[in-house]
Amino acid sequence: MAEILGFGRNEEGILAKPWTLVPEALPRAACPICGSERFERGPKGRTGPTGVPPRCAGCCSLERHRAIRLMVEALVAVDFKNWDALQFSEEPTLDPSWFRAFEVSVYGGSNSLDLCAVDRPDDAYDLVLCNNVLEHVADDRAALAELTRISRPEGFVILAVPDPLFREATDDWGYPDPEKYGHYRIYGRDFEPFLAAVLPDHACLSALGPDPVSGVTELAYFITESPQTEAALMAALPGVTSLNAAKKPGVALHR
Ligand SMILES: [Zn+2]
Repeated sequence: MAEILGFGRNEEGILAKPWTLVPEALPRAACPICGSERFERGPKGRTGPTGVPPRCAGCCSLERHRAIRLMVEALVAVDFKNWDALQFSEEPTLDPSWFRAFEVSVYGGSNSLDLCAVDRPDDAYDLVLCNNVLEHVADDRAALAELTRISRPEGFVILAVPDPLFREATDDWGYPDPEKYGHYRIYGRDFEPFLAAVLPDHACLSALGPDPVSGVTELAYFITESPQTEAALMAALPGVTSLNAAKKPGVALHR
């Protein structure tokens, strides 16, 4: 048995814990985004906790891109053909051809949107993807308000931040530290109650799904204003938990 530094939730639904997998049982999957079977070391030369080099040589995807791709593909009941999407930063998680319109904001690029003051009207998009960007902005409350402002009520925001279940409390040092990938902070387990508190009028769901290449589990948040969309997400997403459950008696923590 090899110990895998993945994480899950205990019965209280919040704590990180390692689990074990038989190495031979680790999947030898091709990249679910581009089909490549070649993988290379990731940022700063890292391998993943399972020892598998994480970056796809075909599409440059990492663990979180592939895991979230599979989460979105699980939403078979959602017809993206008439949806307009916005994604912050260049990454291969979503397939632009799924959508009616697909816009990418690249920091410092020709279409750079300020996440804390997005130069777009209310309800401009059906889906907004913000994957490992929030830790790069000074005012994360303003960013969350903007992400939900520009999203239509029936749509949703997909949000991910680096490994928020690995530490108890968020450490915010207040400037973009070049030694730490330019992050303002590293989020902890208080991120989930923070999300629910900052967005009291939205359903905030967390999903835990595998990257089939490395066997690592990744976490993403799905945020919507619509009870119908919330129900569709709850029915389809892997490892889904409602962060608002404490406020809504009768909603189960685990599925
Ligand atoms: Zn790929």
